[in-house]
Amino acid sequence: MKELKLNKEIETKLKAYQRSYESLKRSIVRVQVNCKHSVVYECDWLQQFHLHSLTPRRMCARCRREEKSTSVTGTYELLKNHPNRVIQEIDRDALYALRIPGAEVDIPRKEEADE
Ligand SMILES: [Zn+2]
Repeated sequence: MKELKLNKEIETKLKAYQRSYESLKRSIVRVQVNCKHSVVYECDWLQQFHLHSLTPRRMCARCRREEKSTSVTGTYELLKNHPNRVIQEIDRDALYALRIPGAEVDIPRKEEADE
């Protein structure tokens, strides 16, 4: 049986895309670790079904680092309230639309200790 190979044009562009995607992930990690997250969007909790709700979320406007609250009242570790941080309410769908493809993946980060 003859080996079936991926179309050369697609293969070439797929490899370029994968290299670019890896480069994007490295940039996201580098920028997010060094960002002060001074302006943060927040969406409120959302009840979806009878006993199911989505917890609030925050996202940095500049680097798009996102954090899910650990409670429905809004409890954050990285993007917590801070005197030098502006928190701006935003619709949940609008927050989701701001996500950078690849930024939501669980990239290991050496988290910022000081804010
Ligand atoms: Zn940030």
